[in-house]
Amino acid sequence: MTVLFERVALIGIGLIGSSLAHVMRSKGLAGEITGYAKSEATRAKSVELGLVDRVFDSAADAVKDADLVILCSPVGTYGALAQEIGPALKPGALLTDVGSVKGAVVRDVLPHLPPGVNFIPGHPIAGTEQSGPESGFAELFINRWCILTPLPDSDPKAVEALTGFWRACGSNVENMTPEHHDLVLAITSHLPHLIAYNIVLTAADLEEVTSSEVIKYSAGGFRDFTRIAASDPTMWRDVFLNNREAVLEMLGRFSEDLSALQRAIRWGDGETLFDVFTRSRQIRRSIIAAGQDTAAPDFGRNPPKAQ
Ligand code: NAP
Repeated sequence: MTVLFERVALIGIGLIGSSLAHVMRSKGLAGEITGYAKSEATRAKSVELGLVDRVFDSAADAVKDADLVILCSPVGTYGALAQEIGPALKPGALLTDVGSVKGAVVRDVLPHLPPGVNFIPGHPIAGTEQSGPESGFAELFINRWCILTPLPDSDPKAVEALTGFWRACGSNVENMTPEHHDLVLAITSHLPHLIAYNIVLTAADLEEVTSSEVIKYSAGGFRDFTRIAASDPTMWRDVFLNNREAVLEMLGRFSEDLSALQRAIRWGDGETLFDVFTRSRQIRRSIIAAGQDTAAPDFGRNPPKAQ
């Protein structure tokens, strides 16, 4: 048990904020945890669950005297929050975030920070489709990557301290620029979510196939998209509004590739289909080899029991 930061402030206490609270508690990484969330219900729940030692109804009060401040709310809230907490941040404090986009976060947060505050944006590549203060768990970040996007004038000691924090949470840490982060995540996370939301919508709007049939026969593949499409609407609205260029770039490429598959199906080009599907299978195997998913069939779901 090594205390890495005497006082940590969590701004937003949902899936990611509460998971951080759990892991800080279980490993003794913080001397004290303070918190702020938008609603009174979440603030009360955070105290009841023991996620925070003290909760405040103002973000500025929550960050007072904090050594580490972590923004854990939807990215669309960061600009206003930075404006509010900027004057209250302690000189030398380390400010970071967990937002799913990085360029827009730098754009929105940096102008509000006083000199002497170390701002190092971050993004843990770990999550579930659940949200809220009750959805977190200490193991969420284990063996997952956390991307940090230090700014050109970031203090290397602060980067080192934040890297140490994420490693203590169980993560592997990599640094890249905010722009590169946004491109990588556009294809690995943002586009898959958009596709999942869209396929669920397409299925829901069908006329010849009823909704009850879609649900009844969902084990054919559809249900795996519905898990992703059940993700928090506010969070994902903010992701697409704030990573517009990169998502549109990847969406353009996706549409071209989809048209090529459409053409192969129309013209009975089995060779093209077989080649694409073979390459895809290889990528799945690489993900398993990299320890980023289970090799168990059907994601390790238990087979249905005999009636
Ligand atoms: P979540 O479970 O929906 O929790 C969001 C939290 O932010 C709640 O405590 C909410 O408070 C608070 N909040 C909302 N608006 C606020 C405002 N204006 N001011 C202050 N607090 C506000 O969300 P999450 O999944 O933890 O996501 C949080 C951040 O992590 C997002 O930026 C997201 O991009 C990023 N992220 C998410 C995942 C994932 O898989 N979920 C993975 C990596 C990174 P109330 O409950 O009171 O509304």
